Amino acid sequence: MFLALDQVSVTYPGAIAKPAVRAASFALPAGDIGVLIGPSGCGKTTLLRVIAGLEQLAHGRIAIGDETLADAPRGIHLAPEARRIGMVFQDYALFPHLSVERNVGFGLAHLARDARSQRVQEVLDLVGLADAAQRAPHQLSGGQQQRVALARALAPGPRLLLLDEPFSNLDVELRERLAQELRTILKASATTALFVTHDQQEAFAVGDRIGVMREGRLLQWDDAYALYHRPACRFVAEFIGHGVFAPARIVAAAGGPVVRTALGDLTDAAECPLPDAYPDGCCDLLLRADDIVHDDASPVRARIERKAFQGARFIYTLRLASGERVLAQVPSHHDHAIGEWIGIRPEVDHVVTFARDAA
Ligand code: ADP
Ligand code: MG
Repeated sequence: MFLALDQVSVTYPGAIAKPAVRAASFALPAGDIGVLIGPSGCGKTTLLRVIAGLEQLAHGRIAIGDETLADAPRGIHLAPEARRIGMVFQDYALFPHLSVERNVGFGLAHLARDARSQRVQEVLDLVGLADAAQRAPHQLSGGQQQRVALARALAPGPRLLLLDEPFSNLDVELRERLAQELRTILKASATTALFVTHDQQEAFAVGDRIGVMREGRLLQWDDAYALYHRPACRFVAEFIGHGVFAPARIVAAAGGPVVRTALGDLTDAAECPLPDAYPDGCCDLLLRADDIVHDDASPVRARIERKAFQGARFIYTLRLASGERVLAQVPSHHDHAIGEWIGIRPEVDHVVTFARDAA
């Protein structure tokens, strides 16, 4: 493993409340892009800052390859400038009075003039701004400025790049495109990176590995497929994707376990827990919007309460006669009116269940 965090905790000086990061462990292979996602205040920035060396560890250990960057029990704390880690922040923080070229060359003072301008040109090429070297930051769009900031961070060849919500000041369409571009640029330069966002689409577009954080804890560190289809806990299940929990009962049958729900029985599901996984088989089943199919031939009917247009599809909020609420993702040419009853059918490939919520 390349970057490895082991039981990392951070407590801000004077903070009487809980630590800002609590016992976070994860590993990121060289060349991979990791993403940290979670609600505001969950500790994402703090985790980046402690990796950069800008905060002290209260517990745990951080290493890159064989080199220990910080080790709380042994009192090791490598200075930020000795870590060879680059950072890109939300505000581009370019020097307004310096040209793009000088901004990007800022961390390269140790290089001879020719070597410096060659490296600057190289990274400007990489971010697609080869022609902008002589411009001033204010002559560039927000997206271009953020790419200059990226070029500046890449120029000294950091062994790890940390990016803290770099696109959150930009508008949505631009963000989606930049997220794709960022991935291409990082892969082209074989840069290992850790990217913080609160936007799921961005996390999925950029990350090889995604970590979901809540209240200082890293709840799950996995690839996007596993996060979506095998969420480790309720919070992750609700945080990633659209869905609801429905009461269900897992019972034994000749052909294997069957999941009884208000929408009918689910059979043949992959990765289904056994009936004795829960008391009496009773559990809460995660039903994602893409687990529910619109099918007028189905005997299960539900009334449309709400609909959200998402371009190629709608997310319908539906209510069954039994009172249960589900979400359904349907192609947007299936345009039904609110209040209408439609037929639905569950099509669940991955059965995700949790112990029934007491609340
Ligand atoms: P995020 O980036 O996920 O929004 P932060 O890492 O900024 O979260 O903050 C995590 C927690 O630490 C929050 O409760 C926040 O109020 C607290 N915090 C952040 N920075 C400081 C600081 N410099 N001093 C004290 N508490 C801080
Ligand atoms: Mg933050």
